[in-house]
Amino acid sequence: MIKENLIQIKNTLPKEVTLVAVSKTKPVADLKEAYEAGQRIFGENKIQEMVAKYDELPKDIQWHMIGHLQRNKVKYMAHFVDLIHGVDSFKTLVEINKQALKHDRTINCLLQARIAKEETKFGLPFEEIKNIINSKEFSNLNNVKVVGLMGMATFTDNQDQLTAEFSSLSNLFNEIKSTNSDFSILSMGMSGDYKLAIDCGSTMIRVGSSIFGARNYAI
Ligand SMILES: *Cc1c(COP(=O)(O)O)cnc(C)c1O
Repeated sequence: MIKENLIQIKNTLPKEVTLVAVSKTKPVADLKEAYEAGQRIFGENKIQEMVAKYDELPKDIQWHMIGHLQRNKVKYMAHFVDLIHGVDSFKTLVEINKQALKHDRTINCLLQARIAKEETKFGLPFEEIKNIINSKEFSNLNNVKVVGLMGMATFTDNQDQLTAEFSSLSNLFNEIKSTNSDFSILSMGMSGDYKLAIDCGSTMIRVGSSIFGARNYAI
């Protein structure tokens, strides 16, 4: 089913929207099936799990870290991670920069914005995002590049609320992009809400269960 699911989703996507296949908790065999169907971008939310899968799978896969980051574990993925979605502090950017420098590379990152009303969701207030990007300290970090924003909407069926949350992030993204040429990625939308996210301006969706089926335990 994985192949069929992927093809079905890809057929409905505008060509400027990138699909991240969220493979967290799923076995390597499932990722291989998606790989054989042409998928090259995978998203994981635990660093150790991503490293283990990276070691086993073909090296032309682009690995995206989509989960909340523990700073002390950034070093384990710094040699290969392609994009880190969930950066929600300046301190984390400093650590990513330090680890990227050790491998003589630049790591692309997205700042995670707080758009959901739920207390449990991570993310930076909009003002703080602008403050970081405009700061001198940030401009001194030569081995990280912030290429856009990421957000997770409230877990709800209320379309008006989802639209409001996605649109607010899209507006912030466009505002920053108008003066920042590094900005090109707006990561928003998951299995339940990616169509709406695309309507609101998403350029990258993170889809797990609609490709790989339901996960056995909630993460
Ligand atoms: C798990 C996860 C997803 C994918 O969720 P689905 O509902 O299975 O598509 C997307 N983004 C983040 C940050 C996740 O943790």
